[in-house]
Amino acid sequence: MVNTDTIAAIATAHGRGGIGVVRVSGEDLRVFAKKILGKNSLPRVATLSDFLGADGEVIDQGIALSFPAPHSYTGQDVLELQGHGGDAVLRRVLSRCLELGARPAEPGEFTQRAFLNDKMDLAQAESVADLIDAATVEAAKTAMRSLRGEFSHAIHQLVDALTSLRMLVEATLDFPEEEIDFLEESNALNQLVAISAQLDKVFHQAKQGSLLREGLHIVLIGQPNVGKSSLLNQLAGEEVSIVTPVAGTTRDAIRQHIEIEGVALHFIDTAGLRETDEEVEKIGIARTWSAIQQANAALLLIDAAKGIAPVDLDIITKLPSGLPLLRVFNKVDLLGQEPRVDVVGGTVDIYLSAKTGAGVDLLHEHLLRVVGWQTGGEGVFIARERHLSALRVAKERLTLAATCEGRVEFFAEELRLAQNALSSITGEFTSDDLLGEIFSRFCIGK
Ligand code: GDP
Ligand code: ZN
Repeated sequence: MVNTDTIAAIATAHGRGGIGVVRVSGEDLRVFAKKILGKNSLPRVATLSDFLGADGEVIDQGIALSFPAPHSYTGQDVLELQGHGGDAVLRRVLSRCLELGARPAEPGEFTQRAFLNDKMDLAQAESVADLIDAATVEAAKTAMRSLRGEFSHAIHQLVDALTSLRMLVEATLDFPEEEIDFLEESNALNQLVAISAQLDKVFHQAKQGSLLREGLHIVLIGQPNVGKSSLLNQLAGEEVSIVTPVAGTTRDAIRQHIEIEGVALHFIDTAGLRETDEEVEKIGIARTWSAIQQANAALLLIDAAKGIAPVDLDIITKLPSGLPLLRVFNKVDLLGQEPRVDVVGGTVDIYLSAKTGAGVDLLHEHLLRVVGWQTGGEGVFIARERHLSALRVAKERLTLAATCEGRVEFFAEELRLAQNALSSITGEFTSDDLLGEIFSRFCIGK
């Protein structure tokens, strides 16, 4: 990909708005700016200006802002034309930019240039998209933390610690006769334990962030009339609100989206999972099962007076193994009982009334807890599956290194592989394919 040509895009959302911004980035935009503004633009000074067509016609009027390289978002010259926020007028301003030699920017191309010009690392670049896509306030907060470099900083600390340990270890490789006792006598193994513990902590923070980013997928199991709709309404009441579906989720399988404590919950209804010969229904059922494979927890709703139905047990046995299960015994008001929680072995049983709302707070609390979400979100970074799997690889390598039994070369090699995995998070080693995949999911103009 060429990164030196001039790109332009409408950076604001489509539709009507008070202001609409066309953004341009290129190696040298001085002539470009002069042509469209009819005058030289002063660096970093907001200037009321006409935006001119080829024949001198005024296409729009607004604020022009120029940011000369390298002190700009992309690291190149950037020109921002802040005009009126209507589709037609913005398209005209954009056309004028294309006429002046710019080409339409690809999705995420401004941010990709920022990454390639070292304005931000890959984890930060990804958090730009996550911030824009954040469906809840909590997700936005954690995306901002990653964008400010907190996640990257934690990764750099791990990489630095590994680097100094490697230097210590690799120095002895030049003196093989000292190898035998080296790992014992030096502090190397203790350092490894410390790094490994730190890695666990970062993984936990990243995992929390990924739950915020993706939302929690919860399989809802329960017979007709046990109170599923009533319960979802209760959950969606009070301090929680309906959230919009996340792009890419299978709409027909996931029917309800609510938010608790800033975490998006997507309920996958299993009511339609029945034996059928009907082709369309079969497809729907297959989709539901594949959505269930990604679930974070299962919630079984039971009429407290009737107990668990055989159909429910049948669905439970088909769920992915290890999926946390919550059993909710509903309608306790009819039995004259108070809400309560019983933890039996690994399962959590909650007794509540979806009708009166009694005990729904217990469900909030335990629902988030069984999926490993910790309230407060202290130190949480927004993270993606890509980051989690890199952290997992690093952890495996460190675990292997610990089994080296004095083989310094083996130890050093595992440390190197762990370090590579971590560096892939911040993008020290990246392929064009990976970059293409990451940035193509951005919106145009960012
Ligand atoms: P769904 O078919 O599982 O979605 O069940 P609904 O939420 O539609 O509820 C079925 C019926 O049970 C409705 O008449 C509800 O008012 C009633 N119901 C639901 N939860 C409770 C509860 O906690 N107590 C009582 N007394 N009735 C309930
Ligand atoms: Zn219902």
